[in-house]
Amino acid sequence: MNPISYNYTPYSSYSYPYYSGRGLDVQNSYYEQPKESDSTSEQAAKTIGLAGLLQLLSVALQKGSSILSSKLAAGKEFTTPENVQRVADDMVSKNRLNVHIGYIDELNKAEYASRYGLGKSLDPVAKGQNAFFADKLRLAVAPKSKPSLILHELGHAINAKGKFTKLLQNSRRYAGYAPMALLFANGILSNKNDGKKTFIERNAGILGFCAFLPTIIEEGLASFRGVKAAKKVLNNPAGLKILKKNYALALGTYILAGIGLGVASKQTVLLDGKN
Ligand SMILES: [Zn+2]
Repeated sequence: MNPISYNYTPYSSYSYPYYSGRGLDVQNSYYEQPKESDSTSEQAAKTIGLAGLLQLLSVALQKGSSILSSKLAAGKEFTTPENVQRVADDMVSKNRLNVHIGYIDELNKAEYASRYGLGKSLDPVAKGQNAFFADKLRLAVAPKSKPSLILHELGHAINAKGKFTKLLQNSRRYAGYAPMALLFANGILSNKNDGKKTFIERNAGILGFCAFLPTIIEEGLASFRGVKAAKKVLNNPAGLKILKKNYALALGTYILAGIGLGVASKQTVLLDGKN
């Protein structure tokens, strides 16, 4: 789960196999294969080693991400809710944002959910575990207990108004398909008989990470806009440091997710290469 996301799709529902268990699949498929020449088994042994490493890395990334998330959840607010609102008002008026801002708690979540047709999406927000901006609904919400997250969400609202930054924002929808897309492209491009690794086989990890890079950049930009506005409206350097730290933790979860997508891409392509 990610505390800061630009829409109300929970981060954890993204479709790439963050914990795919594919490393084990590779191992199984190897043992079921008939004995081949020595060099092929050597190659297979290397692949199993790599698959195991990737699986370990995938688990470590999940662990790291949940550590960052809980640190962020435990993070202090950098200023009072009234000051946050002053900064938010400044962002709205300077950028002519047509966005309703909601601070969600257990008391008002049902009313918001029915007004915007949000189902259960506000439950984690009320609990202080998520915040989001929904462009189509013209709505930005943050937990009442963590109002400062709204400045990041308004950063997304500003990004949604720019052509290029909107493109970055939309890329997130497709990033999760990177492993399957690479697999598909590799199927078209590879020549299984020549024994050489294709460009995609060699670079699946970095290519998968690159698919998530626009999302990481857009997230960073949303936070940057929030921090910039807070710096301008409030004269509170100590508080700003706290805000920056909280937003850095949030960005950290996205960087780890990008690495995770790279790992998942490598795993997917590696598995295919053994079949
Ligand atoms: Zn965000």
